[in-house]
Amino acid sequence: MTQAAKHLVLAGGGHVHLSVLEMLAQRRPAGLETTLITPAPFQNYSGMLPGWIAGHYTLDECRIDLRPLAEAAGVRLIVGRVTGMDADQHRLHLDDGSTMDYSLLSLDVGSETDTADLAALGERLLPVKPLDDFFVQWPLLMATALETPGFRISVIGGGAAGVEIALAASHRLREADSTARIDLVISETGLLPGHAAGVVKRAQQSLNKAGIGIHRARARASESGLVLADGTQFPADKVIATTGARPLGWLAHCGLKLDARGYILVDAHHRSLSHADVFAAGDTCARADVRMARSGVHAVHAGPVLARNLLATIEGGDLQTYQPRRRSLYLLATGPRHAIASWGRWSAEGAWVWRWKDRIDRRFMNRFALPGSAISAATPASAERKC
Ligand SMILES: Cc1cc2nc3c(=O)[nH]c(=O)nc-3n(C[C@H](O)[C@H](O)[C@H](O)COP(=O)(O)OP(=O)(O)OC[C@H]3O[C@@H](n4cnc5c(N)ncnc54)[C@H](O)[C@@H]3O)c2cc1C
Repeated sequence: MTQAAKHLVLAGGGHVHLSVLEMLAQRRPAGLETTLITPAPFQNYSGMLPGWIAGHYTLDECRIDLRPLAEAAGVRLIVGRVTGMDADQHRLHLDDGSTMDYSLLSLDVGSETDTADLAALGERLLPVKPLDDFFVQWPLLMATALETPGFRISVIGGGAAGVEIALAASHRLREADSTARIDLVISETGLLPGHAAGVVKRAQQSLNKAGIGIHRARARASESGLVLADGTQFPADKVIATTGARPLGWLAHCGLKLDARGYILVDAHHRSLSHADVFAAGDTCARADVRMARSGVHAVHAGPVLARNLLATIEGGDLQTYQPRRRSLYLLATGPRHAIASWGRWSAEGAWVWRWKDRIDRRFMNRFALPGSAISAATPASAERKC
């Protein structure tokens, strides 16, 4: 591979590739050309999104500027989107109609919100992902909600993202003396599936205290609007979808081996099962050897392993494996500066949990804020991320 690896292409500037940029800034193989393709020069940090909605953070506090990181790493940054790929030809197709050939490819393009049941809502639908769009749309939604008496927002999805967004939105609207109403529609899988009963109870209490209606039914869109599984029409002026992830559509025809849901199948080194010159990590991949949740925690922790494996592929050397921890710490923001901690069966809540989460989130952001100091000071262990 040493001779062949002349052009490393990094598709997507997500959580994983931050570590790759970090590594390349420290050690760049001679003669290697590297290109980063990213739809925007910024990487928005989902962990701080609820705090931004609630009004605790500014936009600049929640996003990482990829340009100085790329510059420090000697990486050419192209603002664009991958729209297709031919893995056998080692070729990417971009949204401006151009193509780009690679000798080594790393994919960190994330996932998108699965809106299959809700797409018919058209303009009324706001999926949480892509995050770039959500960050643009939320202030407009907020403005409309503030000027429309009795405005109704429905958040669909009972996972951590749905709970945090509903609570954050409620806090922000209450602070602004809005009469808007927020409902959380959760499917039959219930509130916070996968979390311990104590966490669910605490979240339920926070939702009740905020006056958020909880509706346990699957929602879908019809021509007349939102309809619950029992046929009830559900009034909603805006619907925020946090309905789980799905892979990006173009992966279906990329030529890589995929799992049954369409995610890129990778081994423990995060290398494609079908193409040795392709690596993938974060939400876009599925591990063939172990079941791994799609979370920022894994994306962040897999990043340094992926970075070292790219280097080993280029320079020669052994590949490392990423071993996901059995449990992850989750810190759920509840609107005001208060949060719930979830670790296996253990849970806790309070302002101190918020301060804990805030410290972890800010430390993560600071790691990538100033290329010189951050890159030399941070270690992979400091990527302990709230979730
Ligand atoms: C509201 C919310 C809160 C969350 N909070 C947490 C949390 O606290 N903790 C946690 O562990 N997880 C959290 N998650 C989940 C977490 O956001 C994801 O698991 C994590 O972002 C995955 O990282 P990634 O690097 O795979 O993808 P991303 O961080 O999404 O990065 C993917 C990148 O690829 C880019 N991209 C997309 N399409 C293309 C394309 N076609 N071409 C090129 N680039 C492309 C995107 O612009 C993006 O920059 C949250 C999710 C949401 C929605």
